Amino acid sequence: MDYSRLPSISSLLQDPALAALPHALAVRAARAVVDRARADRVLPDDFARAALDEAARLTRRRLRRVINATGVVLHTNMGRAPLAPAAVDAVADVARGYTNLEMRLETGKRGGRLDGVAGPLCEITGAEDAIAVNNCAAAVLLALSALARDREVIVSRGELVEIGGSFRVPEVISDGGARLVEVGATNRTRIADYERAITEQTAVLLKVHASNFRIVGFTEQPSRASLAALAHERGLHLIEDLGSGLLDCAPAMERDTSALEAEELVNNAVAAGVDVVCFSGDKLLGGPQAGLIVGKRAAIQKMRKHPLYRALRLDKLVLAALEATLLLYRSGEADTAIPARRMLARTAASCREEAEALAAQIPGARVEADVSFSGGGALPEESLPTAVVSVPAPHPDRLVAALRHGEPPIIARVAGGCVKIDPRTLLPGDGAIVADRMSALL
Ligand SMILES: *Cc1c(COP(=O)(O)O)cnc(C)c1O
Repeated sequence: MDYSRLPSISSLLQDPALAALPHALAVRAARAVVDRARADRVLPDDFARAALDEAARLTRRRLRRVINATGVVLHTNMGRAPLAPAAVDAVADVARGYTNLEMRLETGKRGGRLDGVAGPLCEITGAEDAIAVNNCAAAVLLALSALARDREVIVSRGELVEIGGSFRVPEVISDGGARLVEVGATNRTRIADYERAITEQTAVLLKVHASNFRIVGFTEQPSRASLAALAHERGLHLIEDLGSGLLDCAPAMERDTSALEAEELVNNAVAAGVDVVCFSGDKLLGGPQAGLIVGKRAAIQKMRKHPLYRALRLDKLVLAALEATLLLYRSGEADTAIPARRMLARTAASCREEAEALAAQIPGARVEADVSFSGGGALPEESLPTAVVSVPAPHPDRLVAALRHGEPPIIARVAGGCVKIDPRTLLPGDGAIVADRMSALL
């Protein structure tokens, strides 16, 4: 390469368009372009133009809205639950100015950070008290730190799971300063196994929802009620990590929801006598990322007073979104107004109708029966029947990449040589964007 053709930074900055940018940004962009040309041994046709493009890239947000055409409703890589419009408005309202975050307006005195969410949470779940932190992992960590530090926590070997990333039950227990006592076998654990393991050192019986993992066949786990009875007889706490906790008024999913309701309903865990129930705000609840903890007053009070709570507490933006979401449960609008719940409840017929309207606008597209997934670790092997737009392409990987590189980015799946668009996860207005982009690319 002819290094003499590499311009100096100062000569590049003579360009009027670059000179008009803030100096530090212009220097950073010019350096990046010159460094890249040297490293890649490829000279851009126009260094100034390339530096301007680089400056535009440097000042564009990385975090942007994308269109989810995958049919996975609670996709962790895509930020899980999209917020209800009422929650979005609440965030904008409190973000714009000052708020009464820790001021009681009736008295003008301090207090009340959790007032807006604890009331509705108790009402909806039937719990005595509630607290909210940054996410479900933080909720479990706080519960164990407040109730089991330096003591023993008994867990079934069938529930020592890893929930993606770094959330592993044995490690969360040690991070909470407690000691893990494993009982039973991977597939079968009985109440007698827990009973035998209880010592003077025991503080907590912990039940964990296996989420992204299933043990099937010759299996047995004691009921919640029997675990609660044992815990209370021995003066222990029963903590349950429910993960994708579902609040009352389960969406009418197009399949047998009895298993789901029994297992995942927060209300059922509370009613069965579980002292502390932890679940995520952005999974089946359909709100912002948060860890919700509901249960017995004394246990929740210990968590509120624990120093870790201060480090894990929610900020005003998340509290605003969470409160607005919970109010939709209170007003009975959860199934229509919360996007994730609406998507989960959508029938295959409704997805097919939208798929057909889309396919009519995309050259070569056809409609096929397929399956969507709830995601978020909820019911991993169970699928929701759907209909997708299937677009054959000579290089489907290139087509999905092109969809992803547009604005807004569209995230779609590839299967069997086709690009698949699942209408289940499209929000109002998304369909038209997808159809236009597809037609332009094909
Ligand atoms: C998803 C999940 C978690 C982690 O929840 P986050 O809100 O992502 O921190 C913990 N436990 C269980 C059982 C889960 O399903």
